[in-house]
Amino acid sequence: MVIILLGPPGSGKGTQGLLLSKAKSIPEISTGDILRGAIKAKSPLGEKANEFVTSGRLVPDDIMIGLIEERIQQDDCKNGFILDGFPRTITQAEGLEKILNNGNIKVDFVLNLTIELSSLIKRLVNRRICSGCGKIYNLLTMPPEKEGICDSCEASLYQRKDDKEETIRERFNVYKRQTEPLIQFYSNHGILKEVSASGDKDEIFKQLNKVIE
Ligand code: ADP
Ligand code: ZN
Repeated sequence: MVIILLGPPGSGKGTQGLLLSKAKSIPEISTGDILRGAIKAKSPLGEKANEFVTSGRLVPDDIMIGLIEERIQQDDCKNGFILDGFPRTITQAEGLEKILNNGNIKVDFVLNLTIELSSLIKRLVNRRICSGCGKIYNLLTMPPEKEGICDSCEASLYQRKDDKEETIRERFNVYKRQTEPLIQFYSNHGILKEVSASGDKDEIFKQLNKVIE
């Protein structure tokens, strides 16, 4: 099964992607996580991506398409995968189509997580992430039991550099301009499903599961 998660920054693609990945036993591919890992490791990809990611702009399409092509050819993707954060432009979506057509694979569902923009900033500035296992917390709605420490693996929590208010605004602008047109694109393909992304994460997950049954 191939699933694309669509939605603005903070709509919960990462949280839902991890839940879906466990439930379906297929990998979740988060381009944001891949890029942050590359930046941390100071790899050639990281060097190229750093200025874009930290300022909230998009990494160039050719880099991203190449990265995804390589990733989905890996063995763990043979039964399907979940894309979180890709495609983010029409060019990327067309690139993905080409790659998938070559492998005779089709996208089963594009899940569009819809949410009011006003609640997103609040979510993002309060987001914290586990440095050990990647679990996502929210200081207001899903705080860890012990401050700054992951409930699951006890590693320390950190805040993403681009989760600062001015960078968040830039990410929204980019989303509106470059990513939102994908809703129409996939709706034209007849595979778009809308799911409300406000509220409790387990409730949202239930709704997602209904939609992909
Ligand atoms: P969010 O969806 O919360 O904004 P992500 O973790 O998905 O965050 O992405 C963080 C940053 O990584 C983006 O702002 C962008 O700079 C870069 N990035 C991630 N995916 C892509 C992509 N498909 N194309 C271009 N840039 C990307
Ligand atoms: Zn953890």
